Amino acid sequence: MNLGASAAAVLSRPWPAPSANDGPQPVPLDVGGFTPLSDTVWPGQRVAVVLVQGCPWRCHYCHHPSLQARTERSPQAWERLLATLPPRLGQLDAVVFSGGEPTLDAALPRAMMQVKELGLRVGLQTAGLYPNRLAACLPLVDWVALDIKTAFEAYKTVTSVPVSGEPVRACLDLVLGSGKDHELRTTWHPDLLPEATLMHLARTLKAAGARHWVLQAYHPDACTESCLGSVVCHPPEALVAHLSQVGLAITVR
Ligand code: SF4
Repeated sequence: MNLGASAAAVLSRPWPAPSANDGPQPVPLDVGGFTPLSDTVWPGQRVAVVLVQGCPWRCHYCHHPSLQARTERSPQAWERLLATLPPRLGQLDAVVFSGGEPTLDAALPRAMMQVKELGLRVGLQTAGLYPNRLAACLPLVDWVALDIKTAFEAYKTVTSVPVSGEPVRACLDLVLGSGKDHELRTTWHPDLLPEATLMHLARTLKAAGARHWVLQAYHPDACTESCLGSVVCHPPEALVAHLSQVGLAITVR
């Protein structure tokens, strides 16, 4: 995979290394949840979804806060889940690794290889916390969905973690330079993403080489913070039309 000069430059920076599952011995993937079949996660694909434990961010709209911490023992045994896949090869096109933040886990590339050896495709949903881990996974990935939570300078307003946008910017360059099928997506809530911030993000994505952008409505549930309200927030048509002037194809879902 040719990462391109800009991606090679970002990888040469000393990004903090994730620690989960690092060590001399191979450790199985730490799985916090499993969806046997979904046709909505990866458009056009029938997938099983593996939810990997662990995420250091605290997004106000996180739908899986129970996956943020890593328990001492994996709640579900990866090798046992893997063994359920061969009898289902006719029903599945792919396995998508999600979370939590799946690239937190050093065992992710090995798990991806095991899925590929079954003849299934591999998808990845990531918030882009760890550029070096993403670079290691991208050659194994057939499709990657990268969450872009807000303008990179404003990430703390969503994640509650200072300067958390910097590694995501690096991951954006990696994804765009990889040539892999991908989706860049942003969850919209008016309190988190005022129009000026969103327009700045749209221009940043366009300048980085993005062509397509998915704006997702905010959906409250029992896990999202009450300060965001209890009403589904769809991006208004006028806002989408304004953003489209930047030259990105925008899908609203
Ligand atoms: S990055 Fe994802 S898993 Fe982590 S806190 Fe945010 S929404 Fe939750």
